[in-house]
Amino acid sequence: MIVILLGAPGSGKGTQCQRLAAKFKFQHLATGDMFRAEITQQTTIGVKAQDYVKAGKLVPDAIVTEMVAARVDADGQYLLDGFPRNIEQAQSLAGILKGHSRSIDLVCYLALGNDEALKRMTARRICSGCAEVYSILQHAPKVEDVCDKCGGKLIQRGDDTEATCRKRLMVFEDLTQPLVAYYKAEHVFHEIDATLPASEVEAKLAALIEPILTAKGPRVRR
Ligand code: ADP
Repeated sequence: MIVILLGAPGSGKGTQCQRLAAKFKFQHLATGDMFRAEITQQTTIGVKAQDYVKAGKLVPDAIVTEMVAARVDADGQYLLDGFPRNIEQAQSLAGILKGHSRSIDLVCYLALGNDEALKRMTARRICSGCAEVYSILQHAPKVEDVCDKCGGKLIQRGDDTEATCRKRLMVFEDLTQPLVAYYKAEHVFHEIDATLPASEVEAKLAALIEPILTAKGPRVRR
């Protein structure tokens, strides 16, 4: 089964994908996380991507597409988070999947207004130890800047500054939003209100995934 989660930065794609990956045994393919890891390790991809990520711009399609293609095979179960991000990437994805005789089963769009997205992104803090995500507005740690789980120091993502968040939202509107119409026309598409509590969004997503998994039979439940 292959599921795409679309949504503006801050709409909760990462949080939902983590929960759903654990629940349904999906592989969570998050291109933003991949780039952050490549940048930390200063790999060839990381060095090529870092200026784009820092500026809130899209990394060139060829780099992203190659990175995703290397992780997709003929029978894995994937949750795609942050890819595709424009029409060209969507077309490349279709080509990659066709090469494995596969197709997309579900596209879910987590809809969120720009003001709320901006508020969430600038409030986000991440544990430098275990990567647990907090919000200083909605889910604050018990002790300021200290992770409840592992005691690690909480940090702000380098691209979660207000100026870069605004840039990322503009990029989303210009390049990624058109994917809503693209997938509405081509695939099983559902829109979910991302202002709902995370547990409600999760329940709605699970209710969409469950019947498809059941229809595909026990073989896909690994
Ligand atoms: P968010 O969805 O919160 O903006 P991500 O972690 O998905 O954050 O992405 C962070 C950054 O990584 C993006 O701003 C962009 O620079 C880069 N990136 C991630 N996915 C892609 C992609 N599919 N194409 C191009 N760049 C990407």
